[in-house]
Amino acid sequence: MNSVKALARPEILALQAYSSARSLAPGTGILLNANENPWPPADDQGLELNRYPDPQPQELKQSLADLYQIPDDHLLLTRGSDEGIDLLTRAFCRAGHDQVAICPPCFGMYEIAARIQGAAVLNFELDADRDFLPDWRALSTSGAKLVFLCSPNNPTASLLPKKEVLNLCRDLRDRAIVVVDEAYIEFADARSLTDQIAANDNLVILRTLSKAWALAGARLGVLIAQPGIVRLLRKIIAPYPLPKPTVARVSAALSASGRQRMLQQRDQLIQERQRMAMRLQDCPEVISVFPSAANFLLVRVDNAPALMRTAHAHGILLRDQSNQPGLAHCVRISIGAPEQNNALLELMENPA
Ligand SMILES: *Cc1c(COP(=O)(O)O)cnc(C)c1O
Repeated sequence: MNSVKALARPEILALQAYSSARSLAPGTGILLNANENPWPPADDQGLELNRYPDPQPQELKQSLADLYQIPDDHLLLTRGSDEGIDLLTRAFCRAGHDQVAICPPCFGMYEIAARIQGAAVLNFELDADRDFLPDWRALSTSGAKLVFLCSPNNPTASLLPKKEVLNLCRDLRDRAIVVVDEAYIEFADARSLTDQIAANDNLVILRTLSKAWALAGARLGVLIAQPGIVRLLRKIIAPYPLPKPTVARVSAALSASGRQRMLQQRDQLIQERQRMAMRLQDCPEVISVFPSAANFLLVRVDNAPALMRTAHAHGILLRDQSNQPGLAHCVRISIGAPEQNNALLELMENPA
């Protein structure tokens, strides 16, 4: 924690967190302490939406701690991983001073969060010819305060080798926080790095319920780190980040039957990914299909805008990646349900 303290913005370290009514006293008894309405709204469905929610609901936190096999004081529940990215940037980067390292092509929110905070962005581009692996040596000497890695990476679908990530953590100890965004790890043939948190006080893992768990609309992300970082970020998170309906629906999804459902869908999506990769490879306009450890495929085609247009004309939306560094002519295709995937195959196997 000492090393992490030295990295955090001093004004955040010094900040006394806002004390909400719910954080000062439990939400039981005659509640005249939070200026709430005493009566639930119409059709409340037992949620008591007239009352503020628990800032970090213990039961849900425990379920997620069990799921990720990490003590519950290592978790911060956030409004999607997007909020985790924002909190990290605000807690560690002084505007006009500190830098964030990213490895494009990558998820766009790392750069957005950095720019909003006034942190400079250092780009360490990934190259398809090097299997989209970062220049580890350059990353370890970049001087950035925060390094954002993503594994499997969006949009390249590539996985980072555990050994190199851990070497980077060690190299950057006392100098930078290494954030590994594992939004798609459920789809990979690899384990999460969560079990490395204990040995690395500068490692932060981002997990999300938005992808494999089918809860993108609920907005729940989980930031995993040593308790010192979790406590630091709790100072700057909104007082009540988690709406009660979100907590209720996510908790239900994590039940034993919900877990079964997730695993079954995940397996089906992986199967579909393999089927799509094979079939797309043989499509006349496809140059290459990159290996994928996620629930999408990155595909290089003859003419990305033309494919986007044809697909769109048939009501199919794809994501053009051809403006991303190193991804000329590339399109990202999310793996859908079999009949959705078939609709796209139909189109690409029989071009006009
Ligand atoms: C989809 C995605 C997320 C998830 O963000 P949420 O805010 O949790 O929905 C995080 N990181 C990456 C790289 C993603 O592609």
